[in-house]
Amino acid sequence: MKKKLTVSIFAILSIANLLHAQADRWQQHVNYKINAALDVTTNIIKGTEELVYTNNSPDTLGKVYFHMYWNAFVPNSAMDIRSRELGKNYLSVRRGAPITSASTMDGKDNVQDWDRRVKDRIQQLKPTEIGYQRISQLLMNGKAQKLVEHETILEVQLTHPIAPKTSVKLALQFEAQVPIQVRRSGRDNAEGVRYSMSQWYPKLVEYDYQGWNTNPYIAREFYGVWGNYDVSIQLNKDYTVAATGVLQNPSLLSNVAGMKSWNFKGNNIHDFVWAADDHFKHLSKEVRKGLTLHVYYKEKTAAEDSAWANVLWAAEKALPYIEKKFGPYPYPQYSFIQGGDGGMEYAMATLLKGPGIGTVFHEWMHNWYQHVLGSNESLYPWMDEGFASFAEDDISFWYEQNIAAQSPYISAAAIKLLQANNEKAKTYLPSIQYGNYGGYLALAKSNLEEPISTHSDHYNTNFAYSSAAYSKGATLLGFLGYVIGDSLRDATLLNYYSIWKFKHPNSNDFFRVAEKTSGIQLQWLKEYWVNSTKSIDYGLNDIQAENNTAIISLQRYGKMPAPIEVLITYKDGSTELHYIPLDLMLANKLDKKTPNRIVHPEWKWVQPTYTFETTKPITALKTIEIDPSQFMPDTNRSNNKLEIPN
Ligand SMILES: [Zn+2]
Repeated sequence: MKKKLTVSIFAILSIANLLHAQADRWQQHVNYKINAALDVTTNIIKGTEELVYTNNSPDTLGKVYFHMYWNAFVPNSAMDIRSRELGKNYLSVRRGAPITSASTMDGKDNVQDWDRRVKDRIQQLKPTEIGYQRISQLLMNGKAQKLVEHETILEVQLTHPIAPKTSVKLALQFEAQVPIQVRRSGRDNAEGVRYSMSQWYPKLVEYDYQGWNTNPYIAREFYGVWGNYDVSIQLNKDYTVAATGVLQNPSLLSNVAGMKSWNFKGNNIHDFVWAADDHFKHLSKEVRKGLTLHVYYKEKTAAEDSAWANVLWAAEKALPYIEKKFGPYPYPQYSFIQGGDGGMEYAMATLLKGPGIGTVFHEWMHNWYQHVLGSNESLYPWMDEGFASFAEDDISFWYEQNIAAQSPYISAAAIKLLQANNEKAKTYLPSIQYGNYGGYLALAKSNLEEPISTHSDHYNTNFAYSSAAYSKGATLLGFLGYVIGDSLRDATLLNYYSIWKFKHPNSNDFFRVAEKTSGIQLQWLKEYWVNSTKSIDYGLNDIQAENNTAIISLQRYGKMPAPIEVLITYKDGSTELHYIPLDLMLANKLDKKTPNRIVHPEWKWVQPTYTFETTKPITALKTIEIDPSQFMPDTNRSNNKLEIPN
């Protein structure tokens, strides 16, 4: 009893602290109550949707909008045209290198820049294979409203505007055909999962301080209104349903006329996914009080059984590490569900093609970045994909180094291979070991790069989008560790999560947290990295003997400035790390790992050259290397290192 009291006082105190730290930005709110029935023979789903929508903005709203995603899966839709147009671009290799004209392609090295899952498949869909979503009637507070269709966006012209700080009740009836799976959602995916039900219901468009986010669905990305979902799904009794939220009626599934009803509830989320199959296997474990993890997969071979069991095992083992590094997981449930066409994140759940552990960690981490922080992925895809990719690498590395070999679900041969890799990985340099630096550097050299502030639908190529959102976004966090120090970068990530959770942070919000956490000015980093395509290239210029020292001359060749570290190795085996801060930072990086580094005067960013002295004469020098950590994303490393001949 006493212990319990202590715990609750502590809980109250920490909630008060967090509330104090919370950012002040208004958010819209919506509660959904959805009742839907899926006919597994016709693939038609019909339902009703009741929404209570609260306008927390200071604005009076004369319209509301809904996403009608499945209208993209019709020939000549914007998604179809966009994919076929991107298919006209040929890249000479898949990752990097300029576009060559179609006439010079040799059919081997050239690839079309369209999503290989979409290609021109939408154009070929037959009427029974397309997707559609229709709303027959929409009532606001009981009164019919005027609807205007814009393919995947439905405009609702309101008879009475919604005043600030008021709520309205919206009620609609919808009917949809589940498309053959082309992208993310649909029926009968490559693994044979019958239904991957994402983007399946009319979903309210988010209104925020930047206005209505009415992005047509052409491939990406997602954004939504936080609220509570109460979803009931009826379908053939032989099917198992896996979904966002907590199943409310596990033992009382009603069984009327061959149908079962599944009711799920989830709070503080901005999307709802489900999947259904008549051969789903289900594993689950309550990994701590109030949190149950689930795995649903299509049973096939014993090897696959093991791999899916390992997903649950690894998720439980990794969770404490993940929460310490990236912040607490706030929901009562999470489901890893086989379905979809790769890995795709949803609230409290993910659809996965297979049980690959890197993807498992990546998609789960989207619950931190996409669902709890909820950055607008159309405008800031790198804040979601980039950060999830960084976390994926970090967690995968930790997992492989520390616990994977203990898994009862991995074969002895696989464990041996893992241990050999771990030995090697210890000597790897991070930029080589982590593929995101490689992805970014290929982009920077490709002539196809666009600023990562580009709207995710509007990149010229899929290549530039994915390299920017995933690789350049993840590289930012590696580079931030180089600029402010790894421990302050990690502290920034935790502060960012606790201050901006459920607030839709933008890019400036992230950099402000990094500045406040580190005490280092970072506006230059944001402007160069996010709003430009300028890149970093520093090189060694010249070495001269002077008295008992050597004068090292450095050159900035790239347009983007950075703080510089130079490692000097002497012939006697001793080393010294020279640190040259950038004037724009107005402070030095925290470096606990090298307390004896030599800190030089700042390098003014306007100055292309810089010189400094070593502590020993030129005859004692063995090697000079700029950025031995390789965490600075230098586009040309060939001029970074010099070996002095004997
Ligand atoms: Zn992702």
